[in-house]
Amino acid sequence: MIRFLCLAGIICTFQSCAQSVNEPLKENFLMGRTTDTLPHLDFGLGEDRLGGAKMTFLDTLIAMKVVDSIKEVYKVQLSRNHFAYLPKKNFKADTSIKTQPYYLTGSWKVYGEDKFDYLKMSLDEQLPYRSIQQINPSRIVVDVFGATSNTNWITQVSTAKEIKNAWSEQIEDDVFRIIIELKHEQHWGYSIYYEEKKLVIRVKQQPPVLDLEKLKVAVDAGHGGDNSGTGGATCRCLEKKYTLLFAEELKKRLEEEKVTVYMTREKDTTISMPERVLMLRDQEPDILISIHLNSSDYDTVHGASTYYRYIGFRPLTQYVLKRLTELGLAEFGNVGNFNFGLSGPTDYPNCLVEVAFLSNKDDEKRVLNPQFHKQVAAKITEGIKDWLKNMQR
Ligand SMILES: [Zn+2]
Repeated sequence: MIRFLCLAGIICTFQSCAQSVNEPLKENFLMGRTTDTLPHLDFGLGEDRLGGAKMTFLDTLIAMKVVDSIKEVYKVQLSRNHFAYLPKKNFKADTSIKTQPYYLTGSWKVYGEDKFDYLKMSLDEQLPYRSIQQINPSRIVVDVFGATSNTNWITQVSTAKEIKNAWSEQIEDDVFRIIIELKHEQHWGYSIYYEEKKLVIRVKQQPPVLDLEKLKVAVDAGHGGDNSGTGGATCRCLEKKYTLLFAEELKKRLEEEKVTVYMTREKDTTISMPERVLMLRDQEPDILISIHLNSSDYDTVHGASTYYRYIGFRPLTQYVLKRLTELGLAEFGNVGNFNFGLSGPTDYPNCLVEVAFLSNKDDEKRVLNPQFHKQVAAKITEGIKDWLKNMQR
């Protein structure tokens, strides 16, 4: 059950606000900025064990207009017609922000440097945004809320290697859309952030040579430390131990191919999901493989599955799953729109692998076998190679 609190109630929780509940409200909203680690907006108030459906992750210091308070989240108004929900821990009131009916966009510059292309656009304020990936043709679409076009030129420099075209559309009076067409079919990721009031979309270029050994691969062993993951169908074994064994074999196998490998953990340590996301952000891997073991309330459910959140990252997960099923594992499926923490970053293609179901006796037997760890590592490696090879067609 969701309980809506009166707005006067929220405002009075902020010491910066001089109004008391007994005084009439001068304004029925509160301005502030995003803060703390990994601020994100949810579409609605739905939730499951992985949290509510996310609209976007955001940079910090983005102007937010709170219009209601519901349990642990604020309802925020992004534009006249668009609303979203922001965790309270990600909001800091700032009464110095002057609200305007609209903010103007300025000129753009599109250019490339080593590994990344950049689209930079000046703006009056650090406004909220959301992005989606599109395929066939491959595009990145970014909506900036509260923005009205005053973009009168877009300078494009030939150093840009991945951004083929960039243009805008004013899709609503106060929603400004940036469309980036990519040169390559494969999305290699992008990051959105602000430099002062300039909006930056940094687009990863497709590597010039599509060889496995040229890639930096991040390998994430799920769970660890206090977070044990699931348990076995018959054994007293824990997911966290086996995800690490699979990850270690994958690291070995990739290093045999001269790949640079980064492991999010190499011991039985507790690392939260936001910590992993931030570690990976620093590492700037080309791709991420996260390894988990699945569990179901029904012990007959079994098989391998791979997961992605963004459509542009789907192909890697399909090639990896195809190879895993060659081990005689049933195909549980390739799952999209998945709300898992490490599927959230847009910065690099990522693939969550749920190798098999620890809750199923036959799958469990395989998982306990060290030979199977090596086979899975080899198949994931083959899957990555297939993915790269397909891009060269
Ligand atoms: Zn898990």
